[in-house]
Amino acid sequence: MPDAAPAASLDTLLEGLNDPQKAAVVHGDGPLLVLAGAGSGKTRVLTHRIAYLVRTGQARPGEILAITFTNKAAQEMRERVGLLLGHSTRAMWVMTFHAACVRILRSEAPRLGYTRQFTIYDTSDSRRLVKRCLDELDVDAKRFTPAAVLNQISDAKNKLRDPEAYKQLQGSYYEQTIASVYERYQQQLHSMNAMDFDDLLNNVVACLELFPEVRARYQATFRHILVDEYQDTNHAQYRLLQLLAGKAGESPQNLMVVGDDGQSVYSFRGADIGNILNFQKDFPNAVQIKLEQNYRSTQNILSAANAVIGHNRNQIPKTLWTDQGEGDVIVVRELEDEHAEARYVVGEIERLVDEGVSRAEIAIFYRTNAQSRVMEDTLVRREIAYQVIGGTKFYERAEVKDAVAYLTILGNGQDVVSFTRVANSPRRGIGQTSLSRVINHASTMGIPVWEAAEDPMGVPGLGTAAVKALGRFMDTMNGLRAKMDEGIPVGDLLEAVLHETGYLDALEAERTIEAQGRKENLEELIEVAREFDHATAQDPGLDDTVDVFLQQISLVADADTREDDEGLVTLMTLHNAKGLEYPIVYLIGVEEGVFPHSRSIEEGTLEEERRLMYVGVTRAMRSLTLTHARRRAVFGGAPNYGLPSRFVAELPTDLVDRQGTASGWGAANVAAGAPRPRAVSSWGASGRSGGGGGGGGWGGGGEATPSYRTGDDVVHAAFGDGVVTGMQPGGMVTVRFAKDGSERTLLAEHAPMQKA
Ligand code: ATP
Ligand code: MG
Repeated sequence: MPDAAPAASLDTLLEGLNDPQKAAVVHGDGPLLVLAGAGSGKTRVLTHRIAYLVRTGQARPGEILAITFTNKAAQEMRERVGLLLGHSTRAMWVMTFHAACVRILRSEAPRLGYTRQFTIYDTSDSRRLVKRCLDELDVDAKRFTPAAVLNQISDAKNKLRDPEAYKQLQGSYYEQTIASVYERYQQQLHSMNAMDFDDLLNNVVACLELFPEVRARYQATFRHILVDEYQDTNHAQYRLLQLLAGKAGESPQNLMVVGDDGQSVYSFRGADIGNILNFQKDFPNAVQIKLEQNYRSTQNILSAANAVIGHNRNQIPKTLWTDQGEGDVIVVRELEDEHAEARYVVGEIERLVDEGVSRAEIAIFYRTNAQSRVMEDTLVRREIAYQVIGGTKFYERAEVKDAVAYLTILGNGQDVVSFTRVANSPRRGIGQTSLSRVINHASTMGIPVWEAAEDPMGVPGLGTAAVKALGRFMDTMNGLRAKMDEGIPVGDLLEAVLHETGYLDALEAERTIEAQGRKENLEELIEVAREFDHATAQDPGLDDTVDVFLQQISLVADADTREDDEGLVTLMTLHNAKGLEYPIVYLIGVEEGVFPHSRSIEEGTLEEERRLMYVGVTRAMRSLTLTHARRRAVFGGAPNYGLPSRFVAELPTDLVDRQGTASGWGAANVAAGAPRPRAVSSWGASGRSGGGGGGGGWGGGGEATPSYRTGDDVVHAAFGDGVVTGMQPGGMVTVRFAKDGSERTLLAEHAPMQKA
């Protein structure tokens, strides 16, 4: 009975799958598109299909190429397939695009003039090389920062434009300059037998295009190609798949792609949503399968997600349902500021853990990396073990360490490590060799490195340029030290450090999203210092405030987050959350300007931002909480007054619990920076002042915002008598006025209106 065992296994492979899922798993030859909403089992189907193909003998393990978005996802997929098959999956290619390309190039690179041992340049290597090209071409270093140029080059590569093609395309001086840097950069990479990340893909594409025999070989090798998160592929990746899948009529085109246009969130990295939308045009024989049952979330969470994404115009409508029951409503909480927000979330987590929930079931998502800091501080203080996924813990981030090193060297002129860290960061013409000379000189003379640096002429062997650069640098540093000695608040000192050393300017000049993130982290660090200043303001006896500050943050930075039986709470940005799921999800900072990010509002990429919201909401299995703060100091300096995110307003009110929110429905607030309408205070508004000291009136009864209900009679200062006809999320109230019959939606908090 040799057939019995496989048959039984096949049943298990299909067991529990719904009909369209089964259809996708057992689909025969030819292209297959599974375009379906979140949590509908796309990844699961892909995994089961791999096992099915092997189990039924349609493919040997080595004939399968399965592409995932991250290494972590690849690892998980491999494990699952291994469990389903009950044997080794070593021969299978389950990996990211980049990993697959490296593997191909390790054998094919010689065809393109590289050796098999070619070097892979990471982003900082690439940036250094760009810098060198800029120098060699004598390009204005102010206008053309290495990071910005690399960004342009990478963008061109993602679109498969080589230097020649790029040159022909571009017109302006700026672009022509980049074209010549690109050309040189590419020559140099090649001459050094090196490839950057983008080259990995592009060189495989080139190889397959140039050498028909190579193409034929890989087409034969990868009889089945399966791609997860297809909505986030860029043009180069798309072309690679096209080449591997072969032409219709000549090749079976066994290419299965799964994805969700509603979760495309990487256009800023060159992802092209058109790839998934045009799949059937590119592969006319493609079968499309829709999955409509969501197995992840409760109905309330799903309905909320559907409502949010429904606000996008450019979205393929999809149905998603679940049989998991309604579940809990979505909790929306407005908090005073980001600290109250963190205390609230951590308090809830403590309560849940008390009730027996594992910390591993809980995730906290946020829009930008910098937002993790307050949360991390609070988790550390309450001794809740956590991990930050796909990012570095706040105090371990390079720019935060740089800033801390600046403060450290100001206080301790002997700290060679800190000095080395900051002397040429940002670049100011103090090279590695010069730096070593200064350090050697200091140690020979037995003086602090600061002292040696202050007198660059006295350092043997220093070139004129280095002497000058060092002199300028130490002038700045001495100025800063004088400020510190005057005892200015640490927050002000740090701000001065970052400005006067040119650190922030350098980031600004990069004009990249990464640099923007680093800037936000630094602004967050300034905020940490301001909190410290605030807390120690009552302590006039405190000397060496900078030292105390540094000690304090080093304690947080070192806080041991050991894993234990109760697992770790997981923190990550929304982008990193794609594809994952957690029973309990907190999404923090749901405010206009934070999420949607102000950049997306300015650049008109709100739909992508809304897709990110959809990703966030659909990660939650049974509990979802959104928090927003009335006041947030994310951007350094003055507090921001945040309107709750428009995405909160897009949630159907009947799915949302806002009770217990400090201000109830009076959540809406004036936009950041706009003057507060003062005239309203006599009309029962909260009486907060614009300057940020307020908040006392919130939720305290008396002066608090009147809470309206449908049917309430009201009187408005300008429009006269009216009746409340509806409540809108975000603290809006709709009123029909008797005088002219008009219906107006007003901000409950600010409208000059009272209950009659
Ligand atoms: P996303 O769009 O977020 O990537 P997805 O469509 O890839 O989601 P999966 O992660 O594959 O969805 O599945 C979501 C959850 O539902 C997983 O926990 C998965 O194991 C479960 N699931 C999917 N299909 C079924 C099924 N037929 N029976 C039971 N559970 C299922
Ligand atoms: Mg998935």
